[in-house]
Amino acid sequence: MRAENIIKPLARRPVPLFQYLLFAFIMSFLLLALPSTGHAQVTIAQISDTHLGEAHSPHAFDNLRRTVDMVNARHPDAVIVSGDIGENYDQWLLARGILKWLHAPVYYAPGNHDVHSTDVEKYREVFGPDYYHFQVKGVTFLVIDSQLLGNFDNFDAQSPQPMPQQTEAESQKMLSWLSRQASGSSGGDRNNKRHWWNRGANRDDQPPQRDDADDRRGGNIVIGIQHIPAERGDNMPPDPKPYWVVNEPYRSRELNLLHRLGVRHMLAGHWHVGNIFERDGITWHVAPSTSRLLPWSSPLGFAMHTISPNGDVKTEFVSINAEP
Ligand SMILES: [Zn+2]
Repeated sequence: MRAENIIKPLARRPVPLFQYLLFAFIMSFLLLALPSTGHAQVTIAQISDTHLGEAHSPHAFDNLRRTVDMVNARHPDAVIVSGDIGENYDQWLLARGILKWLHAPVYYAPGNHDVHSTDVEKYREVFGPDYYHFQVKGVTFLVIDSQLLGNFDNFDAQSPQPMPQQTEAESQKMLSWLSRQASGSSGGDRNNKRHWWNRGANRDDQPPQRDDADDRRGGNIVIGIQHIPAERGDNMPPDPKPYWVVNEPYRSRELNLLHRLGVRHMLAGHWHVGNIFERDGITWHVAPSTSRLLPWSSPLGFAMHTISPNGDVKTEFVSINAEP
């Protein structure tokens, strides 16, 4: 047998470790460098009106625990808590203690049981800013403090009540922040920060990572979040009191800015009912409560919002099958 006819197995030369590492490094760099404004579908869970410590909601704590498990099972990209979290400081800490078991980042908006007409600073000390923006997969969310758009301290008031002077000043400050979101300058926003209470106390000392106002002007999707809706639904709530909505003149001030920002969807709470309605180009998605039924309430539960790449929002109301 001639030596040249013998087929030798191909020698397998191992790829040097260095080349492997270089390849892995370049690939992860490329992945990180991809723009964050991709047009993927975004799923947001909305938990609302948890009312820890409220006399009418004896099962509020257990219901919130059940809600957290059910939300985790659905793997949302982020969770928003749209106000009426707890009745006092201790209940806020309890709520936060349960909500820290959520796997997704959590973003808070204050309700009228959290912030009254003179005490917004207390809320800020515990939760950080009461109005700010954040981004999830390129979608911008604007959290608005609806308690700076009116005085909701008196449930039975038959006409809109004035705000104290200092709160009126806070209101103007928030509305100019909102108008700056439209015109392109950035404030001290809490951008892309999660669970700040686990990350040290200097949460507001850092500048925002990037200013996404340019993206918003360029047709990016912008969705608003606030506790009290600024419009009434078709038959909701079936009670004419000003307590249930943001009233004039704040209503028009806010809506003008939302239109300027190109907001087409608002996520709200306060009514303790799952309700979706459209007014003047803006669709309001009102989430049910996890804790307390009102005479017109849907079952206790939470909302799951699916935001498509074109900015449409589909909402599913999920019952938690629990006692109020
Ligand atoms: Zn409520």
